[in-house]
Amino acid sequence: MSEDCIFCKIIAGEIPAKVVYESANVIAFLDIHPMAEGHTLVVSKEHYATLLDFPEDQLGPFFADLQKVAALLKEKLEADGFNILQNNFPAAGQGVDHFHYHILPRKEGDKVLRLPPVNNSITGDQLDEILEKLK
Ligand code: AMP
Ligand code: ZN
Repeated sequence: MSEDCIFCKIIAGEIPAKVVYESANVIAFLDIHPMAEGHTLVVSKEHYATLLDFPEDQLGPFFADLQKVAALLKEKLEADGFNILQNNFPAAGQGVDHFHYHILPRKEGDKVLRLPPVNNSITGDQLDEILEKLK
């Protein structure tokens, strides 16, 4: 539990949430500013700020729950597909400092989220420069 963390308060039952799924490790509830019908957050019960803080040995159980919630949303909302998003650090748009995944149920032809057409060009040398940094 982290002081002043809105998701810790939801987990502790101190503020309400529309809970769609709960296990020993996660709680999943509807996002209050949904990008799609059934937009759901899958949140670890323990407070960790980002993916980099999350214990490696807990990733398997977390992903098993994430898969269950995705299957539940797809079936019950008759979604044709879904996106899974996860933001880390403010520069990437993380607003709540508590490890969580977004699931966006999708319908064929909806306008919820579209990746922009990518036509950025890069040379082989520039790719090599990046590769060099990653070594
Ligand atoms: P992120 O930007 O990845 O940190 O996502 C945080 C998400 O939490 C946003 O989509 C918010 O709409 C959502 N959110 C914030 N407060 C609440 C709350 N009390 N109940 C449900 N969703 C919330
Ligand atoms: Zn927290």
